[in-house]
Amino acid sequence: PLSLLADASLLKTDALLGGRWFAGGQRLDVHDPATGHKLADVANLGPQETQRAIDAAREALPGWSARTAKERSQLLRKWFNLLMQHQDDLARLITAEGGKPLAEARGEVAYGASFVEWFAEEAKRVNGEVLPHFQPDRRLLVLRQPIGVCAAITPWNFPLAMITRKVAPAIAAGCTVVVKPAELTPLTALAVAELAQRAGLPAGVLNVVTSDDAAGVGRVLCESAHVRHLSFTGSTEVGRILMEQCAPTIKKLSLELGGNAPFLVFDDADVDAAVEGAFASKYRNAGQTCVCTNRFYVQDGVYDEFVQKFAARVQQAQVGNGFDDGVLIGPLIEKAAVDKVQRHVDDAVAKGARIVTGGKALPDLGSGQFFEPTVLADATTGMLFAREETFGPLAPIVRFKTEQEAIAAANATEFGLASYFYARDMARIFRVGEALEAGMVGVNVGLISSEQVPFGGVKQSGLGREGSSHGIEEYVELKYLCLGGL
Ligand code: ADP
Repeated sequence: PLSLLADASLLKTDALLGGRWFAGGQRLDVHDPATGHKLADVANLGPQETQRAIDAAREALPGWSARTAKERSQLLRKWFNLLMQHQDDLARLITAEGGKPLAEARGEVAYGASFVEWFAEEAKRVNGEVLPHFQPDRRLLVLRQPIGVCAAITPWNFPLAMITRKVAPAIAAGCTVVVKPAELTPLTALAVAELAQRAGLPAGVLNVVTSDDAAGVGRVLCESAHVRHLSFTGSTEVGRILMEQCAPTIKKLSLELGGNAPFLVFDDADVDAAVEGAFASKYRNAGQTCVCTNRFYVQDGVYDEFVQKFAARVQQAQVGNGFDDGVLIGPLIEKAAVDKVQRHVDDAVAKGARIVTGGKALPDLGSGQFFEPTVLADATTGMLFAREETFGPLAPIVRFKTEQEAIAAANATEFGLASYFYARDMARIFRVGEALEAGMVGVNVGLISSEQVPFGGVKQSGLGREGSSHGIEEYVELKYLCLGGL
């Protein structure tokens, strides 16, 4: 599929250190999850080269932070333009190595690029403050300065957007960055870095360390006293390890971790709208996003209608290679992901759930990493999905009677990223919206992401917010200047 790139020079396979492409001694194979075929091999760096990347970012920091905000803004704007000019090629890379359908991949490019555009604008608004003085001969200023060298560790499920969501605010604020992209999807990261180079980003401002030694590279990034901020998107399990490793150097952390999003449908909901919202929130990227619904709770009065209409909707969704026309559900990223979905289905069925549609892996299709979009009725809160994020195309639907019962079930998890509900009663909308323990709540909508809003979770879903005017704060330190003797 990569021979289809209109601009073949976007296929970069070396790492980027201090403005130079670096092949390294070892290579790492990248595969297409739909076919299992090898796509390319990329530089496979280790702890030593990670240290070099940090050094390059340190060297670039004084020059980059001294640029005017407008200069930084203009470079980001050029980068944004290039990302959008190459939307199709970037989408092909995303589909090739990540598996999501091409139309969805094009959407990710636009979404990912929107952070670069947004922070090009925000770069110009990192304003300081002058405070009322507490003595007549003093004047009090607050500067907002870049935090310094930043590290970003990103997942495979949004190989482009998770990089720009971290890198764009960092470099807008005047920081320099070392990125370690997921080992499964390094090609998109490298193409994004190539476009940053073409936009004129100075050497060392953005460094990309591709590696399958995530633990080794991660350790160097965490332990470095020169790295002042770590932003991570991935599992809660790895987030805990990183937080612990960052404790000795008191690093500032942004963590966007696992979710286990509930989706509540109340008796007063518009059921047809809820079905559409449910489909969109469940099956994007074959259920492999951290804000995908993991479990549905539907009130007694509309339960049967919802299950029947939702299953009918799901049955229309075509499974296959993301490059093929009409495909809505691509492969899962790895064989282990298929096994996990199967485990959750088997556990639910063993405990009394009923398969309404789907329920099986599709081992004979392509790479064998496909799973039928599945709907389970008569699910209960004692099943595995209620505790663990399935991260696949499984929709278990639990029946409930009272609003309180639904809220309690929704909140009975250590996670708190996204949640969704459908209702029309205004008092209920406020009550439930306020009661759900989540960083983000979709009310009568199934898709909520945008560069304009603060994305992030509560509880063990993470720390900090990305995007919006708040997103840049993670990369800025306040400095108080007290001027005396005036
Ligand atoms: P996912 O379930 O999305 O694969 P992970 O948390 O395993 O989530 O991976 C997200 C990112 O974290 C990837 O870039 C991966 O390489 C990296 N990663 C995994 N384990 C570690 C680790 N011990 N230290 C640092 N990074 C890690």
